[in-house]
Amino acid sequence: MEAARVAALRGHKVTLYEKSGELGGQLILAGLPPYKEEWKTTIVYFKSQMKKLKINVKLHSEFTLKTLEKEKPDALIVATGSVPVKPKIKGIDNENVVMAEDVLTGKKETGKKVIMIGGGLVGCETAEFLHKKGKQVTIVEMLPKIANDVGPWSRWPMMDRFEEEKMGMEVNVKVEEITGDGVKATRDGKDLFFPADSVVVAVGMKSEDTLLKQVEGKVPELYKVGTCAGPGKVVNVIYDGFMAGFTV
Ligand SMILES: Cc1cc2nc3c(=O)[nH]c(=O)nc-3n(C[C@H](O)[C@H](O)[C@H](O)COP(=O)(O)OP(=O)(O)OC[C@H]3O[C@@H](n4cnc5c(N)ncnc54)[C@H](O)[C@@H]3O)c2cc1C
Repeated sequence: MEAARVAALRGHKVTLYEKSGELGGQLILAGLPPYKEEWKTTIVYFKSQMKKLKINVKLHSEFTLKTLEKEKPDALIVATGSVPVKPKIKGIDNENVVMAEDVLTGKKETGKKVIMIGGGLVGCETAEFLHKKGKQVTIVEMLPKIANDVGPWSRWPMMDRFEEEKMGMEVNVKVEEITGDGVKATRDGKDLFFPADSVVVAVGMKSEDTLLKQVEGKVPELYKVGTCAGPGKVVNVIYDGFMAGFTV
């Protein structure tokens, strides 16, 4: 949306394709955990800019090679983002396993006792989201530090809250298997078992670069924006968008 906004301001005729029914991408999810509501205003701002600049927004419209052949654009900006990683762990397809994103959007419910696999930003925020709903959550993290990817100004108060709320936190844990009643893991070669009604998975995102690979060399001008090209925070993604809109 930032790329579309800046390109339109510079006089380009812009069409924005979004395969889901809503604009915002992962920012929609970012605004769902506790203390994160303000991200919703970012989406409100961008949507209003789309309207104001009369950008042709096509929802429920996946951009494919066929779309490229039909549209024949002078330039293509790809910002297809990233998708959650589903790790190759034994038992990952069990009925008691859900992805963090599905929990945040309310697509999936969990039982009372929850193990969160992954203690990065998404895992921690989803754990807190579930904790506020009265669930008993334990985060298991492979690294020696919880919320390693969260900036200090957010991490410190988060860790204070987690200690006050007695959030379960286990580090240096390698998950080996998900069973019907919990998670088998190891730490320093020792076997562990974490009982759970539900297991939530938040082990990171991977670039959704399928379209990018397909269109390379097939358009006069091609720009890559945001996490489809590599990991990034909102600030980096919006900067990329600005630069693409400014250069095109
Ligand atoms: C729970 C959660 C909390 C977060 N909190 C923060 C935070 O506090 N701070 C921060 O900086 N970052 C946060 N992030 C990360 C941040 O949201 C992402 O870095 C950012 O949204 C990525 O933007 P993007 O434009 O690259 O991709 P995305 O947000 O993934 O958007 C890509 C869009 O492209 C659409 N799309 C994909 N393929 C096609 C296609 N072929 N045709 C049409 N449309 C397509 C998708 O449907 C999607 O809407 C959070 C993420 C999550 C999940």
